[in-house]
Amino acid sequence: LVEAIANQVGVALIQAEAYAHLEDLNQQLAALDRTRSNLVAITGHELRTPLSTIQVCLESLSTEPDMPPELRQVMLNTALSDAERMRKLIQDFLTLSKLESGRVDWNPEPLALPECIDLGLSHIRARHNPQDLPQIITHLPENLPLIEADGEWLVEVLAKLLDNACKFTPHKGKITISAHPRDKRMLQVTVADTGRGIEPKRLETVFDRFYQEEGALQRTTGGTGLGLAICRQIIQRWGGMIWAESQGKDQGSSFHFTLPIIPSVETPPLKNKKRT
Ligand code: ADP
Repeated sequence: LVEAIANQVGVALIQAEAYAHLEDLNQQLAALDRTRSNLVAITGHELRTPLSTIQVCLESLSTEPDMPPELRQVMLNTALSDAERMRKLIQDFLTLSKLESGRVDWNPEPLALPECIDLGLSHIRARHNPQDLPQIITHLPENLPLIEADGEWLVEVLAKLLDNACKFTPHKGKITISAHPRDKRMLQVTVADTGRGIEPKRLETVFDRFYQEEGALQRTTGGTGLGLAICRQIIQRWGGMIWAESQGKDQGSSFHFTLPIIPSVETPPLKNKKRT
């Protein structure tokens, strides 16, 4: 009888645990569903704005054949830049969804930071007019340890941080890239600029999806508001952190992130073996 009761108690306990698990799963699914609906709503809004502009421009171009050539050019340029904005938005949105749903095939490899920085810088030089770029300085100690991450994605993080630093720093300003081992486990990388800075209360919000200080309508820098959310997903994948620091408006900003160091294999000292 004691054995039967014990069995029943055991079964009841397992059932209770399974129910608790199911309840937990239900809550997680509901949260995911809320996130998905939010994303669909925000993305719909963000796409509709440039699409409406393109439509207005094309309509004017087709219904006003006598439009002065300068105005025609302005209309064409506006339509083209909004089409480019939509393309970037869709690309960043797909990248973020892929990262968030864990559908990325990561390729971990030992990486030398200076090479990744060089690749990040060449992306920036290809994207910006050299005359518009602020001065860019790299301060790296010698013998930096190798880090473990996926090279392509790390270059993506560096390019996005550098791109932001360029966008929000006047061309007489300065961008400094530096790095140092934070402890034995993690390397800290910093991209600092002397640009427009970030208010203290926004230092965390800048990592939210679609956050842009100007808001969607006054946006002048052509970003999507998804770059830092993408960076955070990538860095967190490797157990690192990413955060922003700024003393406030016009005081410049620093973006820091950490990545795991690959422990160097120390070769044991050779023993003097006696020849026989
Ligand atoms: P965006 O595509 O707009 O650059 P991000 O996610 O990369 O999107 O950045 C979000 C917002 O964070 C930017 O629109 C800007 O308001 C702020 N931000 C990012 N980097 C900087 C920086 N270096 N200096 C000042 N503000 C920045």
